[in-house]
Amino acid sequence: MLRLSLLGEQRLTRRGTDLAAGGSRVIELLAYLVLHPGIRVPRAVLAGTFWPETPQPQAMTNLRRELHNLRLLLGGIEVLGMSDGAIGWVPRAALTVDVQVFAAERRAALLAARAHDQAAFVDHAQAALREYRGDLMPGNYSDWVPEPRERIQRECTSLCDQAAVALTESGQGQRALEVAGRRIGIQPLDELGHRGLIRAHLALGDLPAALQAFRRCAEVLERELGVAPAAETRALLRAGAPDARGERLANRGWHSVGGSTHPPTGTGMKTMEEQTNTVTGAEAPFTDLAASLRGTLTLPLDAGYDEARAVYNGMIDRRPAAIARVHDTADIVACVDFARNNSLGLAVRGGGHQASGLAVADDALVIDLGNMRSTTVDPAAHTVRVDGGALWADVDHATVAFGMATPSGFVASTGVGGLALGGGIGYLTRRFGLTVDNLLAADVVLADGTLVKADEVHHTELFWALRGGGGNFGVVTSFTFRMNEIGEHGKIIGGPVFYDLADAPEVMRWYRELLPTLPEELSGWIGLLTIPPGPPFPEELWGRKACGIVWCYTGAHDVAEKVLAPVRDFGSPLLVGLAPMGFDALQQAFDPLFPAGMQWYWRADFVKEISDAAIEVHARYGATLPTGFSTMHLYPIDGAAARVPADATAFAYRDGGWAGVIVGVDPDPANAEAITAWTKSYYDELHPTTAGGAYVNFMMEEGQDRIRASYLQNYERLARVKAQYDPANLFHHNQNIVPATVG
Ligand SMILES: Cc1cc2nc3c(=O)[nH]c(=O)nc-3n(C[C@H](O)[C@H](O)[C@H](O)COP(=O)(O)OP(=O)(O)OC[C@H]3O[C@@H](n4cnc5c(N)ncnc54)[C@H](O)[C@@H]3O)c2cc1C
Repeated sequence: MLRLSLLGEQRLTRRGTDLAAGGSRVIELLAYLVLHPGIRVPRAVLAGTFWPETPQPQAMTNLRRELHNLRLLLGGIEVLGMSDGAIGWVPRAALTVDVQVFAAERRAALLAARAHDQAAFVDHAQAALREYRGDLMPGNYSDWVPEPRERIQRECTSLCDQAAVALTESGQGQRALEVAGRRIGIQPLDELGHRGLIRAHLALGDLPAALQAFRRCAEVLERELGVAPAAETRALLRAGAPDARGERLANRGWHSVGGSTHPPTGTGMKTMEEQTNTVTGAEAPFTDLAASLRGTLTLPLDAGYDEARAVYNGMIDRRPAAIARVHDTADIVACVDFARNNSLGLAVRGGGHQASGLAVADDALVIDLGNMRSTTVDPAAHTVRVDGGALWADVDHATVAFGMATPSGFVASTGVGGLALGGGIGYLTRRFGLTVDNLLAADVVLADGTLVKADEVHHTELFWALRGGGGNFGVVTSFTFRMNEIGEHGKIIGGPVFYDLADAPEVMRWYRELLPTLPEELSGWIGLLTIPPGPPFPEELWGRKACGIVWCYTGAHDVAEKVLAPVRDFGSPLLVGLAPMGFDALQQAFDPLFPAGMQWYWRADFVKEISDAAIEVHARYGATLPTGFSTMHLYPIDGAAARVPADATAFAYRDGGWAGVIVGVDPDPANAEAITAWTKSYYDELHPTTAGGAYVNFMMEEGQDRIRASYLQNYERLARVKAQYDPANLFHHNQNIVPATVG
């Protein structure tokens, strides 16, 4: 029997004897094939994946050598299939892989929990936990490991939490203590784990041990983080030991590090039912909120909390007080009222895409609109009404079927809410303006809990501010947009043209002169990037750094050849990938290349001209893209968008040019520092060549000066509208407009 261990120290063993260990290539190869079951990988792809920096002939030689070694190690056990130059994994009963065993046991445990079968839950949870012996593989593997290490770790701690509760409930106190202790071993600095152990001791009636666990928690936090236990931890101890001694010990020497205390009732133990449903006892006021919602409320100790708080940018790690996945407008009103009345921070999540992670906030109530995604098209009126939590893929799906579209962005996975409220720059901007220029009306829940409609007739100042002012003014429950006819019944001609990176300066100079001369039916953004190593790109270009322009032509097809001729004919492109396709297909083309959960750090500026000085900086930093996902894009804001006066909507940068964004991206958290440093350094050198402000949807949390610079002369008016509609700044987890002082 072969066993492949990837959780903890990597090993390939047969009947307990090591065949290979540590970071050996053989284990990496085998793991890659095992973790991608059912696929057949061309040899060249495998070589490119494992030796990305090595010239292809040498990489192929390396691959041949390692496959040979692998076959030697596997001996008689036939697990690799090869045909037509492709290598595939043939799963065999004779091979056990701990990651897969872990995942299967965890799945079984969750199913048992859902069926309220505590005994089966505990068995499967413990079987899963037995497989987990530490971190999943070193950092450099994680770009092809489907489950990021943090996620598996979170799944383990969540299983521990639930198992400890279930074991306590079924009277198996000692086993509960073991699981709670194990949880602390996995994440010693997570206070929630320490709370679990304290609870388990209290449930056994062992106050001295609970106090001991509290002291140990306090020591670790003090030593490693320089903070004291949170109020909740002390409250837990006080509630479990309501005599003077417990009180004194829990308070001795420790000061609060923030967060209000809501002492739990009874022993402070939650039933398994409570944990997997919604409300936890320690946050008593939430019980009322949960009862008033048709949607769900997820609290920190609930199963699913970690999934609920995760946003698109894997770098963001915030712990909200609660996440309400709302069902309808009434739920939103309930949440807004609850946050205001309890002085809680309030964050609003549309698609969760903003890189700054403003959709979630520590200790806040998050209104997650992800279940409100319906659309209603009126083809005769050329309008589409869209729920506040929809993604652009939902809107494209609804409108392109009728040969129409609303200007959005350059991908489909972003939320409508954040993108539309910040401005909205995309393929259709030159021809039909920004997304906000196509906004006809919005339904908004205001800070005082009232629901209003804003359009050219009602709440006109609010309507002005919503068109670029972000989520500052309330929760938009639905948007009504104009739809525009595009292409031949929704079919456009689009795709990338790639040039060698060495040609980037020449291509950029040509592009900046060409774009203003093109008809507005044709638009294209320019970028520096690495050609993705996979279909549909030709294999010989995989992993090659390039300068690329992605074009989109939405005019009549019978003149397309003529319009596109200058774009096809220039220079010596590596690839001309222009083809007829549905507009929605172009919108979705890049989504699979950038799945949720990667590390993102980006910096941005508006650019009035692509100057020679800027091109020199681009050329240098394009040559040092730190990872295959990192990139730089310049998105045109010209044509129809530039004809709208700067004060007609809150979006101020109207005088032509581009929104530029430098993006460091990588799946591996270990590379977070490298991508951030590269982005900052690139930005610092480029910034002097730019217009000053930035598109708020591309900004990190960069402070008031940057926000003011982005709204220019419109800021003061925005501040006055803010003072009228949200004077207490309830909606402040955004690129915040500070309410004007009245008087
Ligand atoms: C891969 C990628 C590609 C992108 N491409 C483009 C592009 O081509 N063009 C472009 O213009 N932008 C683009 N963006 C930026 C995008 O516009 C922002 O990330 C935008 O905030 C995403 O909207 P969201 O609803 O997903 O945001 P979230 O992260 O959910 O929210 C962002 C902000 O908007 C607020 N908000 C969201 N929904 C509502 C609502 N219904 N009511 C009130 N406030 C709300 C939130 O409170 C928060 O402050 C891209 C982003 C990514 C990550």
